[in-house]
Amino acid sequence: MNKDLPIFDGHNDALQSIFLPKNGKPRPFFKRTDQGHTDLPRMREGGYAGGFFAVFVPSGTPDDGFPGADPETGKAAYELPLPPAIDPVHALPVTINGVASLFRLEAQSQGQIKIIRTVDELIHSLQNQIIALVLHFEGAEAIDPELNALHVFYQAGLRSLGLAWSRPNVFAHGVPFRFPHSPDTGPGLSEAGRELVKTCNQLGIMVDLAHINAKGFWDTAEITAAPLVVTHAGVHALCPSTRNLTDKQLDAVGDSGGVLGINFHVGFLREDGLLKADTPVSQIVRHIDYVAQRIGIEHVALGSDVEGAIIPLELGDAAGMPKRIKCMRDKGYDNEALRKVTHENWVRVLGKTWK
Ligand SMILES: [Zn+2]
Repeated sequence: MNKDLPIFDGHNDALQSIFLPKNGKPRPFFKRTDQGHTDLPRMREGGYAGGFFAVFVPSGTPDDGFPGADPETGKAAYELPLPPAIDPVHALPVTINGVASLFRLEAQSQGQIKIIRTVDELIHSLQNQIIALVLHFEGAEAIDPELNALHVFYQAGLRSLGLAWSRPNVFAHGVPFRFPHSPDTGPGLSEAGRELVKTCNQLGIMVDLAHINAKGFWDTAEITAAPLVVTHAGVHALCPSTRNLTDKQLDAVGDSGGVLGINFHVGFLREDGLLKADTPVSQIVRHIDYVAQRIGIEHVALGSDVEGAIIPLELGDAAGMPKRIKCMRDKGYDNEALRKVTHENWVRVLGKTWK
């Protein structure tokens, strides 16, 4: 592990797949296994220093996955239906369960993992090889329109909130998974959604625009006092998925001093949108290059989506992270640039966002 380049990651679904698996028993986290992408030994080996750990309320609809190639074009062509809104009465206990799992993980870790609430805690953790965990909600279903739950979860440690996952809620509308398609798929923020953004600004909770549709993105850009952040997505010009950002959106992220964490999910990286695990790591770097050239290296970071995505086989798991750093080095990124992409950009943006 390179101590100079700790990787702070914009998104993982470790909580989902390790502690709250859809099928079967929870996986061990403190012992090395070959299941999924992460456990503590593999994180340490790959220099995975922490990141945004998502609490997510599953939709409960069958997961059909992404259809394959169109026989004529050889490219992906799909329009998955938007799952219905989740009942907040159901979302709240699931979310409390997720938050409690992370507290238990921290307690069991004997100081190896810390739920961080300030930038000073983040920097201290990065410098001392303590895994820095940011409590993040992927979708605001557990938050009531009066925002009472937001204040309670803030006190519990919530520091990052995705306004929507890929479904509607009372605040915002997420994008359906479509390819090829623009992210402009529906209405923008509701009045409650605008209040949510402003209250997050006041409290110092980062607003995450991953999964939100274009109108919701622009509504947020208009009212937020914080840099625009998209924790895990890619470049629409390189892979025309609804989950990726258009050039105009990238420019807005750059102008606001914000950051985009590049998603490692192969379906959001490849030009053909296909779910092929044999996609090379260089596809991730292609998206990093594009963002760095268009809006600057200060505005691109990593949002691997490990445990929630099909990542390049070449990378394998959290232990394979150095392969991506090597690929960037081979393309001419120096240590200064690598520090920005691996962690410094996140530290800067959180410093401007958190209180
Ligand atoms: Zn996601």
